Amino acid sequence: MITEGELNPLRVANHQFNQAVPFLEQFHDGAGLREWLFEPEQVVRVSLPVRMDDGHVEVFRGYRVLHSNARGPGKGGFRFHPSVNEEEVRALAAWMTWKCALLDIPFGGAKGGVACDARMLSEGEKARVTRRYISALGDNIGPHTDIPAPDLYTDQQTMAWVFDTYSMMHPGENCFPVVTGKPLDLGGSLGRDSATAMGSMYVTEHFLELGGLPGLTSLDGADVAIQGFGNAGRWAAKLYDGAGARIVAVSDSRGGIYDPNGLDVSRIEDHKDATGSVVDFPGTKPLATKEVLEVLCDILVPAAMENQILASNAGRIQARLIVEAANGPTTPEADATLQERGIIVLPDILANAGGVVVSYYEWVQNLQNQQWEEHEVQEKLRKKMYRATNQVVTIRAGLLDAIEHHRSTWAGLHPDDPRVDTPTLRTAAYVVAVGRCANTLLERGIWP
Ligand code: GLU
Repeated sequence: MITEGELNPLRVANHQFNQAVPFLEQFHDGAGLREWLFEPEQVVRVSLPVRMDDGHVEVFRGYRVLHSNARGPGKGGFRFHPSVNEEEVRALAAWMTWKCALLDIPFGGAKGGVACDARMLSEGEKARVTRRYISALGDNIGPHTDIPAPDLYTDQQTMAWVFDTYSMMHPGENCFPVVTGKPLDLGGSLGRDSATAMGSMYVTEHFLELGGLPGLTSLDGADVAIQGFGNAGRWAAKLYDGAGARIVAVSDSRGGIYDPNGLDVSRIEDHKDATGSVVDFPGTKPLATKEVLEVLCDILVPAAMENQILASNAGRIQARLIVEAANGPTTPEADATLQERGIIVLPDILANAGGVVVSYYEWVQNLQNQQWEEHEVQEKLRKKMYRATNQVVTIRAGLLDAIEHHRSTWAGLHPDDPRVDTPTLRTAAYVVAVGRCANTLLERGIWP
């Protein structure tokens, strides 16, 4: 039985943060640092009246949460999805803070969203929702305060409307750096579109090279299942396929398809473009959207949304490695089951950070009025993702040593204390990220 509480992303985000805190000495003097760091700086709630195509007015709820600007301006996408609410956006904003800190880019964390079903909106309605949302946010966003980007059901076109709306409100300024993920003709960066999937591939590739998964040293020949066929999932299918992996299953919000001999990715893309979904692709076995998580494979890439791998299905997962291209796909209860079963998870704040890393490169190019070559962007991205992967693996080894070293004292801790358990890569990633944010806050001190 899954309780509503189990599925609350803010509870999940808080749990993950709390797993790291006991390992960090910055928190030991009880200076309120935990609350200072976890609570959002600012929550903006807006209601957005929009004239629909049939003439009636609909009022949408929109949010923008600035979780932290300690290490730089807030950064994070905004989504159009029926699940959007304040708690979800708060969790997603916190995840952005840790992601930017882990990748060591000079941003804090933020996130936004409008509660709506984008699939039911016409292009014109989407444009009006976006423009009204951006005008309602006013100067809560800005090139040096909080910089939006795409997320679920928002894309380059949406970012073009963001840029245009903000530019109308700030004539005479260089407004390109106010939003990332823009079209190439409008200050976008080469390599941004594929960046989330590319980053996840670099992390996976390097983790395998480091010997993270005994018996599998590269993507070449690996069986991969991918949940989601939006920006991250579709690019992941293409890139992993290009790296020699066999894509055995893919899905989107309408269902999934499976072929143990490997799917023809480019024909599936054509089918998706023609029909709006991957389902009914000839010669494949149909799956329910969540069944794609349970197929036999080496690597599972959840690339859809939060709360997909739960206590109720974690026991049925057959992959050996999970690469979280989505934000928050795994609940803490599922994490515990996966760990017991020896299934390794490359956590979201590492595995899907490629998107925001290239957003950072786009922002730098916009501030300097430059355009970098695609190979430059990808080489920089590769180095960043490799470095962060190394750090997470090294810190995890360090945590294991610390547990060994303190075994006699830490064994007596409360059973819920994370120091009594073998730390996961997720906990290691949080130790790096939260540690960096804590240092920044302590160095800056409290103003005034
Ligand atoms: N929405 C993406 C994420 O969750 C990208 C954010 C960005 O580029 O700012 O990481």
